[in-house]
Amino acid sequence: MKGVVFTGNRGLKLADFPDPSVGPREVVLEIKASGMCGSDLHIYRATGSQTALGFQAASPVVAGHEPCGVVAEVGEGVNPNEAKIGARVMVHHYSGCGLCPHCRTGWSQMCVEGSTVYGITGHGGHAPYMKVPASTLVPLPDDLSFETGAAISCGTGTAYGALRRIGLSGRDTIAIFGQGPVGLSATQFAVAMGARVIAADIGEERLALARRFGADATINAGGADPLGAIKDLTHGRGADLTLDTSGRPEGRLLAVRAARAWGTACFVGEGSNVTIDVSPDMLRKQLTIVASWTFSTVGQADCAQFVADRKIPVDDLFTERWRLEQADEAYKLFDTQTTGKGVFVM
Ligand SMILES: [Zn+2]
Ligand SMILES: [Zn+2]
Repeated sequence: MKGVVFTGNRGLKLADFPDPSVGPREVVLEIKASGMCGSDLHIYRATGSQTALGFQAASPVVAGHEPCGVVAEVGEGVNPNEAKIGARVMVHHYSGCGLCPHCRTGWSQMCVEGSTVYGITGHGGHAPYMKVPASTLVPLPDDLSFETGAAISCGTGTAYGALRRIGLSGRDTIAIFGQGPVGLSATQFAVAMGARVIAADIGEERLALARRFGADATINAGGADPLGAIKDLTHGRGADLTLDTSGRPEGRLLAVRAARAWGTACFVGEGSNVTIDVSPDMLRKQLTIVASWTFSTVGQADCAQFVADRKIPVDDLFTERWRLEQADEAYKLFDTQTTGKGVFVM
């Protein structure tokens, strides 16, 4: 089979891989949709000597960490309730030792023995087939499309996990910095949870999407005074909750500064850094800063159920649908960070 491999410096190729075959406790999936996530850009852009987000693959791997499809082959020792041929499934895109406290609570990305991250250090979903341990599978509710399942497998699930971590409620005003795939998902969820949403980005196309998804106000963060604009919308106080999905120093600092006294700022964007003036920006405001990294297997299933129950239009995040053969064009466009989300469909 052919799979997409990132070669560094914004390069990729379709490389040959043997069709995967199952071992004990494993399944092979026929991939139906494989999403493009913002964190893929860190790997796509990495130069030869760089490690992307602290991960380094031993040998070239199939990219794509938002896999969704159907079970095509089941190995020995797999419980039939875990995986049946033809079952529609998402993948929790990590695997660990299975025994440590993190693995046992569904957080295998934090495994004390180290974790395989599918699409980054293990073969991912940008290929017709993918082999994973049966324990990584999360059922896809019947009402949800494969594309929606792909989004939930990283970007959309991450947005849901962050809003749950910071306890968003209908009485809150939340400012969300970055309206890429994670930020737009957060906007959809926060609206569905009844909150008042202020969406910020530097791109007008993305702000238009945020308005379509129900944001009460949008702010161009590249404008003259984005912090002042948020203060104006919040009676001079700042937002109850803020979320940075941009991963950029400016976005993080705005998230810290736009939060009100006793408020909470949450970081989910990956990479880069930030410098915070601790006394005025944190101490004097009694600020809480929460870091939220993706979600557990249980959190992924909860997110999918919420999307199904509340009929969240996750498919509307996708502005581009691609064939695997178009991967080069697909990532070149995604790299501009001006569009919605892209997905490979098979
Ligand atoms: Zn473990
Ligand atoms: Zn991701």
